[in-house]
Amino acid sequence: MSDSRAIETARELRAMLIIRLVGFPASCQKVKPDGTRCGRTEDLQIEHCDGRPYQPRELDSYSRIRRYWLEYLRGVRLSVYCKPCNGNQGARIRNGQFRFA
Ligand SMILES: [Zn+2]
Repeated sequence: MSDSRAIETARELRAMLIIRLVGFPASCQKVKPDGTRCGRTEDLQIEHCDGRPYQPRELDSYSRIRRYWLEYLRGVRLSVYCKPCNGNQGARIRNGQFRFA
């Protein structure tokens, strides 16, 4: 598979997984302190609810989304957050509350 084809396929697989996780139209699932959902529809990212034992940045986009799909099919808990919400979540995980079954 050519690089550009792989990137395009990765983008499609990612959009499909996000819709599978949260429905269509997809929006951020983060629950704010007041109990309402964030609901942002831009810059959506797939988040591992229980952390993950690897750095997604070390994988190319196709390998990454393939791995996310396999995790999803194995029952790993995934969520969809917008970039600002996911940034907060990432900080929480980096601060040592990391767990992964
Ligand atoms: Zn959000």
